[in-house]
Amino acid sequence: MVKSLFQKHEKILTLLAVAAGLTGLLLNFDFSMLEAKLYDLRVAHGSQLKADPNIVLVTLDDLTTQNLGELAPLTLDFHARFLEELERLTPKGVGYLVDLNQVNQANPELFNSEWSQRFLRAAHRLEAQGAPVILGNSFDIRGEVLPPYPLSSLPNSVAIIHKDGNVFGEDKITRRSLLELNGKPVFHLSLARALGWIGKREEIAGSFSVPEIDGKYFFFRYHGNTAKKSYLRVSFRDVLKGTLPAGFFQNKAVLVGSLSKENSTDFAFTPYSNVSFTNPKLVLHANILDSIANDQSVYRLPEWVNGSMTFAVSLFVLYWVLNTTPLYGLFATVSLTVLYIGVCHLLYQIDGIWVREAHPILGIFLGYYLAVPFRLIREYRKRWAYQRKNELLTQVEELKTNFLNLVTHDLKTPVARIQGLAEVLLRKADLRLIDRDKETLHHIISSTDELNRFISSILELSKVESNNLHIRIESKDINQLIERSVDSFKASAKAKQIKIQMQLEPLFPIKIDTTLISKVINNLIDNAIKYSPKGSNIGVETREIDSWIVISITDEGIGMTSAEQENLFTRFYRAKNDATAETSGTGLGLYLTRYFVEAHQGRVEVVSEKGKGSTFKIILPLEFTGVQVRRSETAPGLVRRIQAMIKKEEKAHV
Ligand code: ADP
Repeated sequence: MVKSLFQKHEKILTLLAVAAGLTGLLLNFDFSMLEAKLYDLRVAHGSQLKADPNIVLVTLDDLTTQNLGELAPLTLDFHARFLEELERLTPKGVGYLVDLNQVNQANPELFNSEWSQRFLRAAHRLEAQGAPVILGNSFDIRGEVLPPYPLSSLPNSVAIIHKDGNVFGEDKITRRSLLELNGKPVFHLSLARALGWIGKREEIAGSFSVPEIDGKYFFFRYHGNTAKKSYLRVSFRDVLKGTLPAGFFQNKAVLVGSLSKENSTDFAFTPYSNVSFTNPKLVLHANILDSIANDQSVYRLPEWVNGSMTFAVSLFVLYWVLNTTPLYGLFATVSLTVLYIGVCHLLYQIDGIWVREAHPILGIFLGYYLAVPFRLIREYRKRWAYQRKNELLTQVEELKTNFLNLVTHDLKTPVARIQGLAEVLLRKADLRLIDRDKETLHHIISSTDELNRFISSILELSKVESNNLHIRIESKDINQLIERSVDSFKASAKAKQIKIQMQLEPLFPIKIDTTLISKVINNLIDNAIKYSPKGSNIGVETREIDSWIVISITDEGIGMTSAEQENLFTRFYRAKNDATAETSGTGLGLYLTRYFVEAHQGRVEVVSEKGKGSTFKIILPLEFTGVQVRRSETAPGLVRRIQAMIKKEEKAHV
């Protein structure tokens, strides 16, 4: 039962197994570099999220140090005065991302002076105004580096820009950010909570734990090109100089940080650019805060979705490539890749949904490259079978023609002898024979007649098939041929009480092979009589129309359905109806008729209705220029057709 089920669905089961194998193989590798690059394509191209206007960057830039006549890093007194100035500008909150340990190194004494107190007091006053001040800590190999005493009493948390090093992309591009470390929220999360932009316990969508570092990450979203100024930037100097109007930072979170063209650590790599000194870290901090505050994180779909997608697309490609032409296969592969990337892009742009691309895309291409050789082998086998069949067919055709030639030649003489002897016997013994014997002799004669006609048809056929038909052209009046033919059928028409009426338009003689055209006319009149009921009429008509002569033979006989007419001119075809079955015939007459007429550059037309009758028209040109060999159904023609078929097949599979 299982075996028969397998045999029945063998193809699809094999495809499923190959697709599953391919998926399993691919999922063993993580292709993180490729995945990262494809991820960046989504981030940096397409519609971009708007930067939150409530996040402002205050940059400790080269202009500030030059203007103040100082060297970086600025000493604590500048920072204390800066905070004091900020009070007047009434921000909603302050994230202080300046490395205060470096400030300490620049002048440690100031940390024991009133400046540290002024810094603390300004921060507390801001806090009292409702604007929390949070210090961002750096992180080194020993762990989090706390701010120097006494500033460490202010709220602080770790603020690092996470480079994708050996974990994800290995290309040092920032795509994700820490949310929590050792159970403590990092700078951005703390600030967003302190600002009241998110709830105290609110979880960040798409965040995931990394137990190795006892932390939580999330993939944040970028808000416009990081190499450009997407967030409002104000120079530290402008705040310090008090040039900004009061309340300038109303409702805004202010991120203060260093941005010096001389310090490479102030910059990072992003999906927009991995050129040094291009993407300020301060902008990245703003983007992280923005993503947390506006619930714009990236949601990574689980691994099983990735596996299912890889399986589905590789199955589709395998199926498609194996079951259509190579061109369609290629087209389907490319389209599927574009479609898949497009949909992933769209999902990311719309809702930050990250569907992994590397495995499915590799699945598509591997599926394609696996299916193509299979296909080639299959095609090759098929072509080989065609060729063999072609050779065999040619041989069989030749054998058949030879055999027919032989048999008919050898039959002709004894049949003629039987007929001759029967006729002699009938004539000689006419008076002495009883009626029953006479009738038997008549039967012998009419049967040999029939046999003779059959042999002639077969001989004619073999001539046609072997292209041995020679046409002898002479000028002849067609009407004469018709009259002669009608005359020869007088007896058989009379036997069925059929009247043959002729309507012959006077015609000029035209160039024809009289033997062949006589055969054509004879065959059509013979058929008209054979397939008509007793007492019906047959009309034979000739007309000259333009440069053609049209011979019409109309009967009121059994007629034919359109299905019966379809194969009318095929060798050995006989319609499958009772009337035909009761009538003797070879099914060669119309085949030869058409061949002979086409050899005269003419054509045959039929109009027939079942039960009502048929009209056969022979249309011959007035000016016959030479022999036209018909292409269909002859032995060489058949071979040519098969060869053309093979060529076509070959072309289709290149
Ligand atoms: P044959 O008459 O020896 O069978 P033909 O090639 O002359 O072979 O005709 C092929 C078939 O077409 C016939 O067997 C018959 O079924 C059909 N047919 C030909 N002529 C007529 C006709 N005038 N009326 C109806 N059927 C016809």
